Parts: sequence; structure tokens; C-alpha cells
Amino acid sequence: MNNDIERVIYSREDIVQREAELARQICEDYRDKKPIIVSVLTGAILFSIDMLERMDIYAQMDFVDISSFEGGVKSTGKIKLIHDLKNDIKGRNVLVMEDIVDSGRTLKFLMELLADRGAKSIKVCSLLDKPEGRMVDIRADYVGFNVPNEFLVGYGLDYKGFYRNLPYVGVLKPSVYEN
Ligand code: 5GP
Ligand code: MG
Repeated sequence: MNNDIERVIYSREDIVQREAELARQICEDYRDKKPIIVSVLTGAILFSIDMLERMDIYAQMDFVDISSFEGGVKSTGKIKLIHDLKNDIKGRNVLVMEDIVDSGRTLKFLMELLADRGAKSIKVCSLLDKPEGRMVDIRADYVGFNVPNEFLVGYGLDYKGFYRNLPYVGVLKPSVYEN
């Protein structure tokens, strides 16, 4: 699997260091807010768990699965809710954990859903952000790293369901798509 990677963009060490900074900031901001952490499946799972471990605050965890990719490298623009929350979020402080914000459509869809359900506050923490890809006006409140407009894999990010378990974020070799 490692042989399919052309280059590493962020190593495990880079990620861990940045997570510590983000977690510290979030802990300060959410100290007395008992947030619900909404992790967007499946890509954000590694990041969410690593972050949660580092946060010494009262927080609950919930999951939502919203898909805009259909196993390829391009967003389809069609958003599907595949798995819904278990918790009622009315009146709650919600912190959404994402792997990457690209066009922003997934986040827009989710934030509108959460707002409709009466969340008290909604913020977003994304490991990666691709500002160049943005098609709708949406931004993450906490961002790990800004990345160029390339298709990335690893640390939760997949290509056709694979590569999520790479401990770093990298770029696939073009030969992988061609096969
Ligand atoms: P958006 O709706 O912002 O265009 O897309 C967000 C979702 O698309 C992310 O949650 C992620 O699952 C997927 N995505 C966007 N860019 C990439 C990328 O470079 N690599 C992978 N593997 N998924 C991506
Ligand atoms: Mg995602």
C-alpha cells in the first residue's frame, strides 16, 4: 500500500503536533459548553478520535455519514445522508469534525441540517482545507492544514475505500488511477 504513494504531504508527526494545538484551542473555547462532537464518517474518524483523546472537557460523540463522492476522485455534487445522528441536538453546542473541506457542499448541507434542528451553536474543525476547491460560501472554524487542490489519501481519506489506514496524508501515484 505504501508503494502506491508518490509523496507524503503531512507526516504522522506533523499531524500529531497540529492536533495538540487545535485540541488546546478547542478545549479553551468549549470549556463549559458540553459540546456534541459530530464526526463525519468515514473520513474524519481517525482525526476525531485522536482529537477527542486530547480534549479534557465534557463532550459527547455522535456520527453522521454524508457522502458526495462515489468512490472516485471527483465530488459528484449530489449529497446523500447515509447515517443520521443518534442525539437530539436542539439547544446544544455542536462541533463538526471533518477530514477535508473541498467544494464546501457537504459542510453546507450538514450545517443547514444542524441549524434546522435547533443547535445552539455550530462550528467546524477540519483536518484539511482546500480553499481553491470552494464552490459555496462556507468555512471551517478550526483548520489543521491548508492543502493544494490535489487528491489526497491517508489518515482517514480514501480512494475507493482504501488507504484510510495510512498514518500520514499523501498523494497517490497517477498509475493507481490508471489501473
Ligand atoms: P466537499 O463537499 O467539500 O466538496 O467534499 C468534502 C468531502 O469530499 C470530504 O469530506 C471528503 O470525504 C471528500 N474529499 C474532498 N477532497 C478529497 C481528497 O483530496 N481526497 C479524498 N480522499 N477525499 C476528498
Ligand atoms: Mg468526508
